[in-house]
Amino acid sequence: MRAVLVGPPGAGKGTQAQFIASHLAIPKISTGDIFRSNVTSGTMLGRRAKDYMDRGDLVPDQVTIAMVTSRLQEDDAQAGFLLDGFPRNVPQAETLKKMLSDWDTRLDIVLELVVDDDEVVRRLSGRRTCRRCGRVWHATFDPPSHRDRCDDCGGELFQRDDDREDTIRHRLDVYAQQTQPLIAFYADEGTLLGIDATGPVEEITDRALAALRRFIR
Ligand code: ADP
Ligand code: AMP
Repeated sequence: MRAVLVGPPGAGKGTQAQFIASHLAIPKISTGDIFRSNVTSGTMLGRRAKDYMDRGDLVPDQVTIAMVTSRLQEDDAQAGFLLDGFPRNVPQAETLKKMLSDWDTRLDIVLELVVDDDEVVRRLSGRRTCRRCGRVWHATFDPPSHRDRCDDCGGELFQRDDDREDTIRHRLDVYAQQTQPLIAFYADEGTLLGIDATGPVEEITDRALAALRRFIR
């Protein structure tokens, strides 16, 4: 299964990707997670990405595409993958299509998580992420038992720098202008399927898995 999750920031892509990927035994490839871990460890890639991320802008395509190309060539991605946060504009989608076609394959499905802007702001303003394992929590909707600790691994939870209200608003604009056109792109390709991404996390996972399983080759 080669699949993409698309939806606005805060739609729940990372939350769902962790469950879906483990159910389907495919790697979850999150460009945001890869950038953040490079920023934390201070690599060249992290230094190139940081300012764009802090502003809520997209990291330039050249940098992002090189990173994804190399990640998709790793062994664990050969039998399938779930992309979270990539592609994020039409040029990235076109490059992905060409790359997969050069490897004699293609995307099976692009799953759109549909939520409205008010819900997105509520979700992002309470988002907490584990520094150690990357698990995503929410201060109100999915609280850990101890305020600043991850129940799964005991790691410290932090609030992302780009989850401040002004940056959230900018990221929603970036989504509307640059990422939303992907919906039409993938609808034309015949690979797009949208699901309602509101309600309890487990119900959305069930909906997502039911949709994805129809496309397993
Ligand atoms: P994305 O990867 O699309 O930016 P996340 O998966 O990080 O979004 O989710 C954003 C926030 O919303 C997190 O704090 C997460 O715990 C919370 N969240 C995810 N799904 C739901 C849901 N169905 N209901 C309420 N909160 C949710
Ligand atoms: P995310 O974790 O998906 O919300 O991404 C966090 C930030 O990483 C984004 O606001 C961008 O700055 C950057 N980023 C993640 N994925 C991409 C991508 N496909 N193209 C460009 N920038 C990206």
